Amino acid sequence: MRPAELIERKRNGEELPAAELRAFVSAYARDEVPDYQAAALLMAIWFRGLSPAETFALTEAMVASGETLDLARRLGRRVVDKHSTGGVGDKTTLAVGPVVAACGAPFGKMSGRGLGHTGGTLDKLEAIPGFRVELSADELVAQVREVGIAVASQSRNLVPADGKLYALRDVTATVDEVSLIAASIMAKKIAGGASGLVLDVKAGEGAFMRTPQEARRLAEAMRELGERAGLDVVCLLTDMEQPLGQAVGNALEVREAYETLAGAGPSDLRELVLTAAGHLLALSDLGLEPDEARARAEEALASGAALAVYERWVRAQGGDPDPGRLPRAPVVRLLRASGDGHVRALHARAVAAVAMALGAGRARKEDPVDPAVGVVCRRKRGDAVAAGEVLAEIHARDEAAADAAEAALRAAFELGAEPEPRPLVREVVH
Ligand code: URA
Repeated sequence: MRPAELIERKRNGEELPAAELRAFVSAYARDEVPDYQAAALLMAIWFRGLSPAETFALTEAMVASGETLDLARRLGRRVVDKHSTGGVGDKTTLAVGPVVAACGAPFGKMSGRGLGHTGGTLDKLEAIPGFRVELSADELVAQVREVGIAVASQSRNLVPADGKLYALRDVTATVDEVSLIAASIMAKKIAGGASGLVLDVKAGEGAFMRTPQEARRLAEAMRELGERAGLDVVCLLTDMEQPLGQAVGNALEVREAYETLAGAGPSDLRELVLTAAGHLLALSDLGLEPDEARARAEEALASGAALAVYERWVRAQGGDPDPGRLPRAPVVRLLRASGDGHVRALHARAVAAVAMALGAGRARKEDPVDPAVGVVCRRKRGDAVAAGEVLAEIHARDEAAADAAEAALRAAFELGAEPEPRPLVREVVH
């Protein structure tokens, strides 16, 4: 394999043999191919794309670059996992995991921190006082066996080639290519060792994929990779024009997930939790049909079984599950409607930018996050509002931060005539 020749062939639009592409990625992971040649190949891929066979070869090479967890084999059971392509206010995993585990399906997952405008599950979990996200592989397996659920930070040795390539993509304008995104996500899921995977592929202004068409292409690419790797994948194509649920900000989102497990919580979040849990249970070894699986998930919420699992899970990882112990921001400012009407749009990116500016997210990998701050959108798209009613709460570190957030958050709400309803789950791709 000569790197320059491979780059030239991809640049000219040729399909590369799987073995050569794997050799290139493996050599890059071992520092035997320099960044400038990997960057050139990425750009050629960005322009020319990858065939399904090439995308799988890239995925395989990334999986082979490090350790694998092999959760299902170690537990001797099918293990299910859920992944979201990233959105605003997406705390679904915190509620879905306990629902699935309460129904008797093992839920084991490695997760990441947030970057840019989308939050990461680990940042949310770390808002819980005492919660420990660093688990060894043995601890993760033991906890899934005993409690039914564990969520840990991704080990550094899992798909190191993806970490290296992602950092390079980030600085060479090559992140937004469907095959590269699909390979990057699926390499981590395959190395994680689950047997069944529900992918929440978000489309809209708050997501990586802006249009439903792009989201569908990504979903199909990931489903095909799963099939080639022997991993059962169901993709939910969901709306991300507005935040999911009401809360955006780490501790605020944990509280909302807790409320959802307690049988309350916003209706859109509850719907997504039940839909995802139903598909996860149908992929598990419990032998359930999808309708039966969803009914089981509803029962787990109604009976309090899912909430009890959440409490056991959080304690098992050293945390205090009492939502009253979550950190609170010193300043809570209410944003009130200036006139009557309906919320025509609630712009996800604008809400995310406000939450970021308050300190809830990070612009660079090494930035700290403030667990207490964020936004709670009390009105969502389609809701009627009267002048003076509360549209949103701003949870800020100080008055100056709240002042700065107010105008920007007001601009995120578009008030006017009642909009057409829009479904949260647009499509399910099997
Ligand atoms: N998430 C990932 O893990 N990888 C990508 O390339 C994009 C989103």
